[in-house]
Amino acid sequence: MNTNDYFKNFYKKWLSFVVFCGLVLTVSILFVNIFSLSITFFQNKDITLNVIFKVLILNLCNFILSLMSLSVLKEENLEKSKKIICLNYFLISYLPSIFYTNYSILLVLPFIAIIFAAVFENLKTMKIFYCLNILLILNYFFNNIAKDSFELISVIIAIIILNIIFKVSKEIYFMIQEDSFYIKKIIKKHNNLQKKLDIEPLTKLLNKNSLIRDLETVKKQNNKISPCIVMLDLDFFKRINDTFGHVNGDKALLSITNYLNKLESNNVKAYRFGGEEFVILFKNTDIKNVYNIIEKTRKNFGNVKHDYINNEKITFSAGISAYDGKSSIYKWLDQADKALYQAKNEGRNKVIIYKG
Ligand code: GH3
Ligand code: MG
Ligand code: MG
Repeated sequence: MNTNDYFKNFYKKWLSFVVFCGLVLTVSILFVNIFSLSITFFQNKDITLNVIFKVLILNLCNFILSLMSLSVLKEENLEKSKKIICLNYFLISYLPSIFYTNYSILLVLPFIAIIFAAVFENLKTMKIFYCLNILLILNYFFNNIAKDSFELISVIIAIIILNIIFKVSKEIYFMIQEDSFYIKKIIKKHNNLQKKLDIEPLTKLLNKNSLIRDLETVKKQNNKISPCIVMLDLDFFKRINDTFGHVNGDKALLSITNYLNKLESNNVKAYRFGGEEFVILFKNTDIKNVYNIIEKTRKNFGNVKHDYINNEKITFSAGISAYDGKSSIYKWLDQADKALYQAKNEGRNKVIIYKG
């Protein structure tokens, strides 16, 4: 598990939700505008150019903001998406209150943006939205104070709701901060544990589980060069154990491990498959080069005199198989095993390429 992936998924869900809310608002405002214009029209009242202009500008702005949010949703840079989408929702909900200054209910819509800013962990934006909402309430107050129907109570309620939302948002903000701290810690522990589970204790090479996982990944990668695996098995290893003991057998395993570690790179990984069998995965090396590399290793390793077993030499046999692009990884492993079996049958201390 990756910390970034975890938070990416979390924020992606929230970002889609905020974009969805913005779209719903945009469409609703458009319908309300069309509806009220139609009523005015059917009542044979005059629709002034000023009203049409207002409706056009408001809806155009909202649609542009909604489209912007939709396009930012695909953006890889999460921080950028968080800022833009949150701001766009705020504007989509804020603009109607500026255009229609006599509807107190519209005041509440942009308050919600403070909650979104809290979820996106932006305290500064929360505070800015809070201040802008106060300005909006003042704007409503000064625009309506002279009217007979002005209800002071709606201003007071708006201020109360705004403060409740701001307080709740602050709690959400600190809760998310604390949660993400613990989640990051847990994911780090989980990753460390996973790393330990992937390592074979004696040789410290990756184990069979991680080989299976890596093969499944490599299989899907569709590289130009087919990935190759080498199945490698020490020759007559049982005799070394029987003659010189298990402890010295382990030393022989560590000795071959040293050679395999030297082969490792970004594209080459060695695994302990089990017992005295190893697998080397070449993700991006041509099979002929793989053969040459393993041949060279076979010769070098086979010439070493091991002091812990009376300066005897140890050899290995190996089978190589390139991925055919369609089989399962188990068939792929089986092909390398078949080539190894052939190498054993042909007298050992040999490298064979699997040929279908
Ligand atoms: P071949 O050339 O046909 O491969 O013969 P071999 O003797 O190498 O093959 P075999 O499979 O009969 O023997 C493998 C031995 O490896 C048997 C087992 O005791 C030993 N072995 C497996 N794991 C370990 C280990 O971790 N340490 C030691 N010292 N020996 C191990
Ligand atoms: Mg063996
Ligand atoms: Mg074996």
